[in-house]
Amino acid sequence: MKKLFAVLGDPIGHSMSPVMLNDLFSFYHIDAHYLPFQVKAEVLGEAVRGLKALGVGGFNVTIPHKSNIIPYLDGIDELAANIGAVNTVVNENGKLIGYNTDGPGFLKGLKTYVDTLSGQRVLIIGAGGAARAIYFTIAQEKPRAVDIANRTVDRASSLIDDCPYTASSRACSLDMAGKSLKEYDLIIQTTMIGMSPKMDEQPLELTNLRNQSMVCDIIYNPLETQFLHEAIQKGARIQNGIDMFVYQGALAFEKWTGIFPDVERMKEIVLKQLGGKLC
Ligand code: NAP
Repeated sequence: MKKLFAVLGDPIGHSMSPVMLNDLFSFYHIDAHYLPFQVKAEVLGEAVRGLKALGVGGFNVTIPHKSNIIPYLDGIDELAANIGAVNTVVNENGKLIGYNTDGPGFLKGLKTYVDTLSGQRVLIIGAGGAARAIYFTIAQEKPRAVDIANRTVDRASSLIDDCPYTASSRACSLDMAGKSLKEYDLIIQTTMIGMSPKMDEQPLELTNLRNQSMVCDIIYNPLETQFLHEAIQKGARIQNGIDMFVYQGALAFEKWTGIFPDVERMKEIVLKQLGGKLC
């Protein structure tokens, strides 16, 4: 019998996960179907109970339910519990167990560009949900420092205070971070500045960027944000958000099926949806 997989969010129409995951199930000859469900916050618990009753194989969770889903699950793993957000749920013998593959997905994608984070000085721009998943994951990689710059500096300070993993970190304003950019080997942009309707904006100027630095922007639509555009002009190496998106999906697929899928195939599918090319 066909196995059901799903993604729950609100809105959900824009999600590229169904095309990407259905292609993988078909490619690996797994008799399954992955469906998007638009679920309002007030019926999230009922939706989870319904999926469990139907014997769902697993599902993804996206905005705005990544934290609110936790009370409806039977358990969550340590990283997801520390981050306080779940993006992947696995039906393990009738129990729904939550995981977070956003941070590990970002790290796995980054490691296709950078051998190690050990000894590196890292700047994360933004202190929202995505920054939290990335920070808690990267903090375990023994970087020399991971600083966090945010419009609301108190939010960056709270993120640092909440992190259960040991890392040398400072919170600062976007302005301060811009002035000290030379210090960093790796800069990770996690705010929504650069996406529509702020496509012509960037969270800080890159005037002080070192030309050998690595600059990541986790936005993937557009593929090249204004921030990455300026980083290229300054001679930096860059990575857009496609890798994080594809690798978080690949890790979810692996948890459901035991197969780590062909990520190049996944990237091609996503880029086709976005009308871009694999570079
Ligand atoms: P979030 O929790 O709402 O956090 C938003 C962040 O953006 C906060 O740090 C916020 O600063 C900052 N921000 C918002 N408006 C700003 C402005 N006008 N000026 C300066 N900073 C501003 O959102 P999120 O879930 O972390 O998502 C952030 C981005 O990551 C989105 O673009 C999302 O599409 C992308 N993302 C990509 C992937 C992927 O797979 N590639 C996965 C997850 C998310 P304050 O704290 O001051 O409000």
